[in-house]
Amino acid sequence: MMKKHFLDLKPKEIKEYIQKCGHGSYRLAQVLEWAYKKKVDDFHSFSNLPKDLRNRLDSDFALRVFKIKNKSTSGLDGTIRYNFLTRDGNTVPAVLLPQRERNVVCISTQIGCVIGCKFCNSGKKRFVRNLTRGEILEQALDVEKDLSIKTDGILFMGMGEPLLNFDNIVNAIKTMTDPEQMGIGRRHITVSTVGFIEEIRKLRQEKLGIRLAVSLHAPDDEIRGRFIPGVVPYSIEEILKEGIAYSRSNNSRLTIEYVLIANENDTLLSAKKIVKLIKKHSDRDDKIQINLIPYNQTGKDKLLCPSKEKIESFRSFLIKSKILAIVREPRGLDIGSACGQLGV
Ligand code: SAH
Repeated sequence: MMKKHFLDLKPKEIKEYIQKCGHGSYRLAQVLEWAYKKKVDDFHSFSNLPKDLRNRLDSDFALRVFKIKNKSTSGLDGTIRYNFLTRDGNTVPAVLLPQRERNVVCISTQIGCVIGCKFCNSGKKRFVRNLTRGEILEQALDVEKDLSIKTDGILFMGMGEPLLNFDNIVNAIKTMTDPEQMGIGRRHITVSTVGFIEEIRKLRQEKLGIRLAVSLHAPDDEIRGRFIPGVVPYSIEEILKEGIAYSRSNNSRLTIEYVLIANENDTLLSAKKIVKLIKKHSDRDDKIQINLIPYNQTGKDKLLCPSKEKIESFRSFLIKSKILAIVREPRGLDIGSACGQLGV
């Protein structure tokens, strides 16, 4: 039988296990420190634990379950794409985005995706299953170990729709943000969603302090409907309102993602409409940023990226309208690691 993945256990479950083995619950803090702070990948190295507990852990659990299937480094910007092989033979992509002061890892939450946005190749793969809590965490731990670095930020922007794997991402985030475990700053973790408003509300109630990004991609539902299928049953206005409510609740910045596609959503009229919508639902104290993502070619559709001038005039209209807008340069285009390219 396959050993259970240790990283799937919540701290409470580890504590129960330790007690069942006849040891004091104070051992929990030691175990968490080895597993998540020191990031040791072998139970035998948990050196301040009694030997019998180390042996039992080792016979009952696997501390790591992925193998690195392949890995490629961008010659353009140092981005590194990993494909991890799961125990049931699936592939999970994750990407290290080295930034000036931080190592940010973009991770996946599902194998395949049920949404099927037209422009996105990351989600073209048929949905297979949710990743477990442990598989979500292990992506970051394996990248760290492979490169001997420390993760300072996490983007839930890889394959899959994070909010449809709600319990596992919330559990993983609790371990990521706990100073006694991975200790990643709350504001350096961003969950991106195509817009499930019930789940955004639930996430708000979890009070995790992390950031939210909503993938709007259009100024109205007619245009959005051309790219994002009816599986997402909410209007742009509902998603925007819920996103703003989220950012107000923890005083964080809301990111609006907007993939710019030539002759589809890149016109001045679209820019005007999106400004109007944001103004309608926000006030001066709200922190909102639009990330304009020039469409990355996936080779699977006939869509095109707008010209540089077109992108710039869209952005400058937003800026003139006092909306913070940045153009997100693609990362690792040469290795297929940019947004929407994580198909496997
Ligand atoms: N499912 C979540 C998480 C994925 S985040 C979500 O939709 O938000 C990845 C981001 O890249 C999303 O905003 C997605 O819409 C965007 N994206 C997908 N395909 C793209 C492409 N071909 N070019 C640029 N951005 C793309």
